[in-house]
Amino acid sequence: RSTSRPGLLEGLDPEQRAAACAPRGPVCVLAGAGTGKTRTITHRIAYLVRSGHVAAGQVLAVTFTARAAGEMRARLRALGVEGAQARTFHAAALRQLRYFWPRVVGDRQWDLIDGNKLRLVGQAANRLGMPTEAEVLRDLTGEIEWAKASLVGPDDYPAVASRLGRDLPEPGTRIAELYRMYEKLKNEAQLLDFDDLLLHTTAALEEHSAVAQEFRDRYRCFVVDEYQDVTPAQQRLLDAWLGGRDDLTVVGDANQTIYSFGGASPRPLLDFTRRFPEATVVRLERDYRSTPQVVSLANQVIGAARGRPAGSRLRLVGQRPDGPPPRFAEYDDEAAEAAAVAGRIRDLLDADVPASEIAVLYRVNAQSEAYEQALSEAGIPYLVRGGERFFARREVRQAMSALRTAAAGEPDGEFVPLVRRILAGVGLTEQPPPGGAAKERWDALLALVELAEELAATTEGATLARYVAELEQRASAQHPPTVEGITLASLHAAKGLEWDAVFLVGLAEGTLPIQRADGDDSAIEEERRLFYVGVTRARQYLSLSWALSRSPGGRPHRRRSRFLYGLIPEDHPAARVPRTQPRAAGSKSRCRLCGSALNATLEVKLGRCTNCPADVDENLLARLKEWRGDRARQLKVPAYVVFTDATLLAIAEQRPTDDRALV
Ligand code: ATP
Ligand code: MG
Repeated sequence: RSTSRPGLLEGLDPEQRAAACAPRGPVCVLAGAGTGKTRTITHRIAYLVRSGHVAAGQVLAVTFTARAAGEMRARLRALGVEGAQARTFHAAALRQLRYFWPRVVGDRQWDLIDGNKLRLVGQAANRLGMPTEAEVLRDLTGEIEWAKASLVGPDDYPAVASRLGRDLPEPGTRIAELYRMYEKLKNEAQLLDFDDLLLHTTAALEEHSAVAQEFRDRYRCFVVDEYQDVTPAQQRLLDAWLGGRDDLTVVGDANQTIYSFGGASPRPLLDFTRRFPEATVVRLERDYRSTPQVVSLANQVIGAARGRPAGSRLRLVGQRPDGPPPRFAEYDDEAAEAAAVAGRIRDLLDADVPASEIAVLYRVNAQSEAYEQALSEAGIPYLVRGGERFFARREVRQAMSALRTAAAGEPDGEFVPLVRRILAGVGLTEQPPPGGAAKERWDALLALVELAEELAATTEGATLARYVAELEQRASAQHPPTVEGITLASLHAAKGLEWDAVFLVGLAEGTLPIQRADGDDSAIEEERRLFYVGVTRARQYLSLSWALSRSPGGRPHRRRSRFLYGLIPEDHPAARVPRTQPRAAGSKSRCRLCGSALNATLEVKLGRCTNCPADVDENLLARLKEWRGDRARQLKVPAYVVFTDATLLAIAEQRPTDDRALV
């Protein structure tokens, strides 16, 4: 049995190598961002395949976002591994379900629910006489998704939701009714939602021994990246895949758990050795991704996190040469911020930083609009990465349908020109349109042509049918072809990825942390982890910016994010007094620590904002305010009836108060 070709393991440090070469699972790598977890597992797969421990086809590697799965495939290809599967949990489940489905349920047809889920929940709500406003429906849908991902059925839902203290848009029993009705309507329409993919695949493996046997003969080696974000439904599927075996490698960083609102938990990662006491455990501390300047900022960001579980308190040690210090910038309004970011990006492009090495990251997708506009105006090509968004685009759907039809007709003629001809039919012009939405459509279609060119160049006798099959596979794995341009992505979509230059934008209270997290400790911590994920995407150049107002000329009513506290260098102009401030009632109206505008009576009394740690006790005041909010919600009375600001102030300053009994 030959060992690896020389060189494969040379690119790993001793700890990474120990994890990569462990002859079989269980293996667990617990480490911070940029320490080479993904690199370690891709090398591990390559090592196991090359040394003959396992055939490439027996490897199933899973992760959580389509982009991350695509990245893993690209890295495996670069290591010369062909035939190992790297997919998201959902894409892997979908593929297996397609294969097993006839044996599990017979020839009943089914379809993926896709974008119509909200409509179906709306129908269910309508039948039950429940509210159907878009916002409430979104929250209700979120609850159903959370329940399914957490393996909580409608019967148990009310009790579990109440035990966990979930903030519910409707009473628990009503949501359970809705959940039941949604399932009923979905079954009648022969539809499956995303969560069903996991649940049905798990059931197929658990209940059909022949299916399980066939599966177990096929896959032997399991690898999970980003394991900190596993949900109970995914864990159950993983266990069904394993079927009592233990050739499992997991890697993750509990500080990057960013899906706990959807039921994910770092517990399985942190408890891995309890479950597998014989596991090889490796911790990595060297950060190979970012400059020491970025690493130090990342350490500060996550060092401020509260309630970090044991096992997640790792400090990153930067390995790369020094780079520029992170840049902080405050703007009057969002358009000014976007224009300035576009200007900076232009400078980077002029300095020969490739477009594919630049990203603008934001908290919510709606923020992309301002950047799309500013970048278009500056003539900078960009691609909005939502993964699935690419295949949901109208022109891409039209193109796929045209290509499918053409492929079914077994057309003659050379394949790199045939695709172009077909796509011309759906709007691909010879020359690109000048900019804006039309240019974006053109870019998307061109990406399809480039994929065809790539296929023709790398595959003997590539055909249209083969190309369409590749596209279908990418669509189900939500792995869009690459379009040259800078990246616009949400922080969630950016997990696991890296760029030379990263612009974290919109770092204002209400956006990051997002408004609805305010007053909920665990939600705020999740927002902080998102910020940490954002900071750690940058290799070299990191810009952090925010705007004081949404609209040009608007009142500067917004504050920079509480997470920036203590990060901005003392001598930075934004460190003390922001450029634009309401010119109201003298010096008392500004925080004496960070200089931002004070608006609550309580803050004015204290002379500082509640985002800055109190001198009295670190954030005690903020906690009291949150507590007051909770009480108010429970009692369904206006907050001031429960606690007046004067009372809070007294408690924070440890003075006696008449309302003491209420504490
Ligand atoms: P994240 O938590 O963000 O997913 P990660 O731990 O998975 O990060 P990787 O993406 O695997 O980190 O690695 C980060 C960067 O560091 C990559 O560019 C990778 O190629 C590089 N890298 C990792 N290990 C080494 C090493 N031993 N020598 C040189 N470069 C390395
Ligand atoms: Mg990774």
